[in-house]
Amino acid sequence: MDHHLLRELEHLLGRDGVLSRPEDMLLYEYDGSVEIARPQCVVFPTKTADVVRIVELANQYKTPIVGRGAGTGLSGGALAREGGIVVSFARMNRILEMDIENQRAVVQPGVVNADLSLAVAHAGLHFAPDPSSQRACTIGGNVSENAGGPHTLAYGVTTNHVLGLEMVLPTGELVRIGGKAADAPGYDLCGLFVGSEGTLALVTEITVRLTRLPETVKTLLAVYDRVDDATETVVEITARGITPAACEMLDGWTLRAVEAWVHAGFPLDSAAVLLIEVDGLREAAEEHSAQIAEVCKLHGAREVRVARDEKERDLLWKGRKNAFGAVGRLSPTYYVQDGVIPRTKLPETLREIGRIGKENGFEIGNIFHAGDGNLHPIILFDARDPKQFHRAVLTAEAIIRFCIEMGGTITGEHGVGMEKDRLMPFLFSETDMALMKRVRDEFNPAGLLNPGKIFPTGKGCGEVRARPQRHNAETDSAHTENHPA
Ligand SMILES: Cc1cc2nc3c(=O)[nH]c(=O)nc-3n(C[C@H](O)[C@H](O)[C@H](O)COP(=O)(O)OP(=O)(O)OC[C@H]3O[C@@H](n4cnc5c(N)ncnc54)[C@H](O)[C@@H]3O)c2cc1C
Repeated sequence: MDHHLLRELEHLLGRDGVLSRPEDMLLYEYDGSVEIARPQCVVFPTKTADVVRIVELANQYKTPIVGRGAGTGLSGGALAREGGIVVSFARMNRILEMDIENQRAVVQPGVVNADLSLAVAHAGLHFAPDPSSQRACTIGGNVSENAGGPHTLAYGVTTNHVLGLEMVLPTGELVRIGGKAADAPGYDLCGLFVGSEGTLALVTEITVRLTRLPETVKTLLAVYDRVDDATETVVEITARGITPAACEMLDGWTLRAVEAWVHAGFPLDSAAVLLIEVDGLREAAEEHSAQIAEVCKLHGAREVRVARDEKERDLLWKGRKNAFGAVGRLSPTYYVQDGVIPRTKLPETLREIGRIGKENGFEIGNIFHAGDGNLHPIILFDARDPKQFHRAVLTAEAIIRFCIEMGGTITGEHGVGMEKDRLMPFLFSETDMALMKRVRDEFNPAGLLNPGKIFPTGKGCGEVRARPQRHNAETDSAHTENHPA
């Protein structure tokens, strides 16, 4: 990295606002995905003016720049694929305003998702997007990935809860779009920026909608001896026009992994469980819960349990939300996929995932947002073995290609990042891709903001990224290499 650029950054942010030693970079070469790419420095702005100046310096020194929240992303979005500066928003983590009467909050991007809900709970409000990583991930990261969560089924994804943004464009220009009022006139620019995976702007302030906590919540656990019965239940619940607040599924292998760690009360001998939640006014919630229990039984549930109190409900959700961690105890590495299919294709898709796993010699657990048809197959493997890593990537790709065949898509909520760029042409025509590139180039003309994301990098489809072998910090390459399949 240019010595002068480093000095200017230190001058702006102080010595403790800039990291550049190779050993300090190790943490920042990761996110939650299987990708790695190393930056040359990490900076910690504390205010918007810092971010403006950092972007100006990046332009002056023609250096790539990448935003980072908590680094829980699952598609390599926050990794510096082409080296350069990572801008960590960890020190821009204040809730700036809580407008309880109007159900709005204004936050800095580094605020942790769950902290906002905790801060407004006394007023009977919460921030509805609830990724399972919500105790760690930031609202800036949620905005960039348009994150969802178990309650997306009823409450929508992040974009449905963002009303305004303050952002620094890659040119260094500071802009504000939207605001506290609902439905800003003109183009829906918030809709464009939310989910743009950090490639169009660095977000420095976010105005969000706060949602009233429901009067009643009922949480049901339905237990099955056959996976197909569970998936068919999901299809029928929605076919009957009932929209639960959440409808999550864990297969037998995954629930046993979870139970061994969290002790959530999932029966160890079952083939699958559904965790279904209904909420709203007391009478409606009770009626829907009874209807859902009936459908579950009709489709072979051997037991339908309703959580008796808040403690039991919290425990069931703890089991669901800690599933990746539970699986992490069983294998050196796991690879979480994120395919989407129409709900009606759930039974055959789960069977096919099992078949693909067997064919490639991998254990694959399934835990997912069943109501949205958003699958998260978890492939267990050992990344220290390059051949296994290569096979795991191919296995994941086979699953995602099957999702496309089923009329689905390559990501529901984790983003394309640097993980799935090569899969984009399977889904979009050249004309579609060219239009998206024109939008990116309009805001990010020099391509310095988060380069190498979303769009194929030109190495061609069917190429598989391989993890660089671990050497010492000096000799490791600054970015992930591509190797032909
Ligand atoms: C255990 C686990 C469970 C998960 N469950 C879910 C889930 O249920 N639903 C879901 O949607 N996701 C889930 N995820 C994925 C991840 O938590 C989300 O994508 C989350 O929104 C990322 O937030 P982050 O703060 O960690 O962002 P990071 O990973 O740091 O960054 C993500 C992207 O946002 C960009 N970015 C971050 N901050 C800014 C900013 N201020 N300005 C511009 N760009 C920025 C980065 O450049 C990157 O492209 C899960 C991850 C884990 C590890």
